[in-house]
Amino acid sequence: MTRDLSGTDDGVDDETYGAAELSTVLPKASFPDGERDPRRIYAAVRDELMLDGNSRQNLATFCQTWEEPEVHQLMDDCIDKNMVDKDEYPQTAEIEARCVRMLADLWNGPKGAAAVGCSTTGSSEAAMLGGLAMKRRWEARRRAEGKPTDRPNLITGPVQICWHKFTRYWDIEHREIPMEKGRLLMTPEEVLARCDENTIGVVPTLGVTFTGEYEPVKAVSEALDAFEVKTGLDIPIHVDGASGGFLAPFCAPDLEWDFRLPRVRSINASGHKFGLAPLGVGWVMWREETDLPDEMVFWVNYLGGNMRDIALNFSRPGGQIVCQYYNFLRLGRSGYRKVHTACYASARYLAGEIAAMGPFDVVFDGDMGRGIPAVSWQLKAGEDPGFTLFDLADRLRVRGWQVPAYTLPAHCEDQAIQRILVRNGVSHDLCSLLIDDMKAALAHIEAHPIAAPLTSEEASGFHH
Ligand SMILES: *Cc1c(COP(=O)(O)O)cnc(C)c1O
Repeated sequence: MTRDLSGTDDGVDDETYGAAELSTVLPKASFPDGERDPRRIYAAVRDELMLDGNSRQNLATFCQTWEEPEVHQLMDDCIDKNMVDKDEYPQTAEIEARCVRMLADLWNGPKGAAAVGCSTTGSSEAAMLGGLAMKRRWEARRRAEGKPTDRPNLITGPVQICWHKFTRYWDIEHREIPMEKGRLLMTPEEVLARCDENTIGVVPTLGVTFTGEYEPVKAVSEALDAFEVKTGLDIPIHVDGASGGFLAPFCAPDLEWDFRLPRVRSINASGHKFGLAPLGVGWVMWREETDLPDEMVFWVNYLGGNMRDIALNFSRPGGQIVCQYYNFLRLGRSGYRKVHTACYASARYLAGEIAAMGPFDVVFDGDMGRGIPAVSWQLKAGEDPGFTLFDLADRLRVRGWQVPAYTLPAHCEDQAIQRILVRNGVSHDLCSLLIDDMKAALAHIEAHPIAAPLTSEEASGFHH
């Protein structure tokens, strides 16, 4: 470097980027030796975050990327709140307990029963807890009958990765119903074909990650009722309502998927998805106290009373939970319905426009009664438009859009699909700009034919 730094003393008046501190490469691997100016380091760190891209244009994520200013303010107010410390922050603990009662009401828990549940860091932790409770209850039943407990299995449709983690971490055989061409969800018949005395539970997903569709909870529940009459085996349902748990109650209130069905013993949902809270909160709820085995509960003192502690984590930030409570109070049922209905309308608009473009078949069109506000599509079968969905995704990146393309899981690996998640803040107008960019991308590809189309292995993208 030829620059003369002799005149630079890094005083308070130095212009941010003119200061000597920001005229070098900052440490990346070894632990820094000394202090630096907070204003300049803030600028450097914030600048690096630009390279993350713009989350609002990330149409892959289910998680919230826009929040009201009051939520930002509350997050700041709550920076010191630790959920584990119910004695130090009793009011934050009380707010969590209120959210649990509100969710028991929203998901039609039995009238008069105590609400049983807790916040988690997200649906993944909630799924671990819900799954573990099923395993423990199954073990207790088996032991009471003098039968072995060494070969538990869990039945799911095509699930989110958290259920692969659950079955692997806790040594459970995962009987995942593979997709078939023309059947991308679980069906009652496919579930029954896999049930036996070692089945700890069945997990339907309300909003399958790959397409956005709801699995048929009620039909599966009725099939398991008939199975119990025939075999005496009482197999519980845990609903993965990561997305749907905060959508169906507002936008498909007649759909029976929750505690209205007696066989549904537990439910998980992501507060930070359609619960509209900032990143870092999920919920798990049990139907009744007997559905949560005692050995999973640690009782802690709080405000002179006792409170359950059921988390996998110890210390955990409280702001997300406080903001979840803010959202419940701020929006209520009608507010949530309004926000989500706008998303469904945008999804339907996108589906119509995408279907009209020519090369695509819409797989799921964002129908409120059938799934979440998402659109998924594939290339028309048997036609070669001269590009792959991965090429289209790649082209849209030029304008900052992240529209993931991915192949389906086992049995349908050769089928590529592309998906847009419409969440709060993905406005109708923004969708119209995206459609313009999709048309421009197709025109570009037509004008500059692709010699070697991108494959799923080469494409980047994360779609869970
Ligand atoms: C997102 C998602 C999960 C995982 O939820 P996190 O809150 O991200 O931990 C689990 N299941 C389904 C169906 C999901 O969509």
